[in-house]
Amino acid sequence: MSEQTRNPARTRYAPSPTGRTHLGNLRTALFAWLWARHTDGQFILRIEDTDRERLVAGAQEELMDALRWLGLNWDEGPDSPNGSRYVQSHNLARYREVVQHLLDCGRAYYCDCSPERLEIVRRAQQARGQKPRYDNHCRRRRLEAGDQRVVRLALPENGETLVHDVLRGTIRFENADHGDPIILKSDGYPTYHLASVVDDHDMGITHVIRADEWLPSTPIHVNLYAALGWQPPQFVHLPLVTDHERRKIKKRSDGDQSAEYAEYAEMLRVATLRERGYLPQAVLNYLAFLGWHPGSTEEIMTPEEIVARFTLERLSTSPAVFDVDRLNWFNQQHLKRLSNAELSALALPYLRAAYPEAAQLADPAWCEALIAAVRDELIALADVVTAARFAFEPPQTFTTEALALLQAPNATVALNALNDALPNVARLTHAQAEELLKSLRDQLKQAHQLSGKQILPPIRAALTGSTGGAHLADILALLSVADLRERLQRALAHSPTL
Ligand code: GLU
Repeated sequence: MSEQTRNPARTRYAPSPTGRTHLGNLRTALFAWLWARHTDGQFILRIEDTDRERLVAGAQEELMDALRWLGLNWDEGPDSPNGSRYVQSHNLARYREVVQHLLDCGRAYYCDCSPERLEIVRRAQQARGQKPRYDNHCRRRRLEAGDQRVVRLALPENGETLVHDVLRGTIRFENADHGDPIILKSDGYPTYHLASVVDDHDMGITHVIRADEWLPSTPIHVNLYAALGWQPPQFVHLPLVTDHERRKIKKRSDGDQSAEYAEYAEMLRVATLRERGYLPQAVLNYLAFLGWHPGSTEEIMTPEEIVARFTLERLSTSPAVFDVDRLNWFNQQHLKRLSNAELSALALPYLRAAYPEAAQLADPAWCEALIAAVRDELIALADVVTAARFAFEPPQTFTTEALALLQAPNATVALNALNDALPNVARLTHAQAEELLKSLRDQLKQAHQLSGKQILPPIRAALTGSTGGAHLADILALLSVADLRERLQRALAHSPTL
């Protein structure tokens, strides 16, 4: 592997735009990107759109956006100067040229078997307990080109095909298990097998890094390379990313999902993560650990650190489960690494969108203080809207726990004491707020034998409507004194009078 580390790799991500991009797909892209970057090589984005019936409008744009957001920049792709080379439907002439060559040298042949005939063959094989496969009926018929005819690759009919996989070693496939596969369809489009082999060869791909659902296709590819006299690349088949029920994650919803599963599936989409304010570096870090480990106990790493440490030998061969709690944990850890100013810059757009009228948002120092006060409550950036609500609007309702605090004996004493102690300034500084709370505690302890626990929680409940959240001194310093007074008055309406 150390030898490979020194040779720049050319890797590719070759999605078919046939559904919505999810994190499982992107994990494949990430490993291909990491290997290219680790070896100072190139990462190529290629759109495999030859299955015309399954194309989904907008899928290509969505996946390019997702890659950009994650920071998986490509060196060559559909937006390069010769971009059409990276979109398979624009390169039909090249695939036909290769098919013609295979026909000319007797490695491929025309086939006119109808779907009805193929179905009969399939049923008969099943009845005999055999694996369904094309029976190579047309292989020796020497058909000419013609309407509704496909081209098939003539595979070896006996013996084994060996596939060498970097992670799994050598895998042996019985040739008798495979019928001759179609390489050119009757609509003139190549199949995935042909197009991907031609492109991987033409693009000088050194490592094909892809999901292991493609492993059964690889003997076909190995035989295609051999038929064409080309050197195959190294194959790296990655174990699946599964859902929490250990099922394959689908690009298309099958429509019978529970609401809970639908919410889980939402979290697999970059558009959702973006909207909810997950950090791309956290998502990248999480994804990298879905099937790779750095060989140490370190977990929170920047993309650069992961690139530096990435090697193929530390890829796992068992499936990884997509776990939202763990993704949340990674995001929180990355949020913690941001300074208040950095976090503020990222969180402010969410606050501006939620509270467009709020004049305080024009004050950077206030914004930073607010963010500092609520940052520990955030899983993702969008949570700032709820965590900081108290700073923009008085409580509309009180939670049951908050009401219980307001109705406790002595709540009125605490609220009135704060009201009386508020100085006539527009807003308290943080130091003033701390000082004020300290003297309030001393005063109420002496005059009424009240403990801190009897004083502070009802005040928080009065000001925010709830019992958790930012520190009380932060709350006092973020709200104007007029606002504090108003909120205390409203809450006093819920407190028993002495
Ligand atoms: N177009 C295939 C897909 O969407 C790519 C498989 C491969 O990487 O060879 O998964």
